[in-house]
Amino acid sequence: MARVYNFSAGPAVLPEEVLREAAAEMLDYQGTGMSVMEMSHRSDAYQAIIDAAEQDLRDLMGVPDNYKVLFMQGGASQQFAMVPMNLMQNRVADYIITGMWAKKACAEATKFGTANAIASSADKTFSYIPDCSDLPISENADYVYICENNTIYGTKFKKLPNTKGKLLVSDVSSCFLSEPVNVEDYGMLYGGVQKNIGPAGVVIGVIREDLIREDVLPGTPTMLTYKTFADNGSMYNTPPAYGIYICGKVFKWLKKMGGLEAIKGRNEAKAKILYDYLDGSSLFRGTVVKEDRSLMNVPFVIGDKDMEAKFVKEASGAGLMNLKGHRSVGGMRASIYNAMPLEGVQALVGFMEEFEKKNR
Ligand SMILES: *Cc1c(COP(=O)(O)O)cnc(C)c1O
Repeated sequence: MARVYNFSAGPAVLPEEVLREAAAEMLDYQGTGMSVMEMSHRSDAYQAIIDAAEQDLRDLMGVPDNYKVLFMQGGASQQFAMVPMNLMQNRVADYIITGMWAKKACAEATKFGTANAIASSADKTFSYIPDCSDLPISENADYVYICENNTIYGTKFKKLPNTKGKLLVSDVSSCFLSEPVNVEDYGMLYGGVQKNIGPAGVVIGVIREDLIREDVLPGTPTMLTYKTFADNGSMYNTPPAYGIYICGKVFKWLKKMGGLEAIKGRNEAKAKILYDYLDGSSLFRGTVVKEDRSLMNVPFVIGDKDMEAKFVKEASGAGLMNLKGHRSVGGMRASIYNAMPLEGVQALVGFMEEFEKKNR
């Protein structure tokens, strides 16, 4: 068996150590005689798993006591509706459009009220983050919404927008736990875990307690109400039990690696290797302005479709997988999440150097 270097944007690479541990526990989880997959979510063994996962996440992010951690389902896309249903009391919200995910979230919010696109980088194919220091924030906005790391376009908010006192809601799917955050800067942050944390099927929300309310928009289903999750320890119904267990293992792995400050250092070192090479290459070039480059998703192009197809094909032949860019933008994209080892990025750059020599 040979593991490849998997540069997929999501579902994506997980730490090999975590996968090995899960494999070892597959048939008999810690003497229970069963797999976590087969276990009642009401059992003591499972309660211990979800409790530890929540505590480890709180430790890693420094989640204050007045924030709840919710384990949900439905993908990040379901939050595009849950956020307005739960938080849009005035039926007004402001959205900063930095890519497809923010655009989709904004479009979904228009089903529930007025969603204003108050800034956008669509004019340059979302290759930068707009200046968000003095935006026309709506006076009665319930929240300001961002997609913090743009998985498809490879941009990242290095500085959070000035919301002029309004709540900030952030989709952190593709930068979750990639670096330290100050949770108190947000009313809510959430992410699908399949980018940087675990298997698809789990969405984690971190939300300030006073935003968890009864008076959600009329007609909001029980299962789309944050209060349902908060009041029931994320187990009103059957949670995505196995997925949460894997997330918990990844949290332990991150702690062992030294926590988010240490992970950030590793992520910066990895990204620098790739960006430095792109900046010096005469064949490849990055597509994002330097100051807004993501540490997690690195899009790049050659500018010749046939050559790009050849590159992606030959790279996969060399065990460098899933480098094709998103179908909406083309070119290439290397997703180098927490679990991508430094050696993977080195191997990619080595391969690109060889390819450049042969095809210049
Ligand atoms: C992948 C992604 C989504 C969509 O996630 P699903 O879980 O497939 O709904 C939303 N936002 C961001 C930033 C993403 O990277």
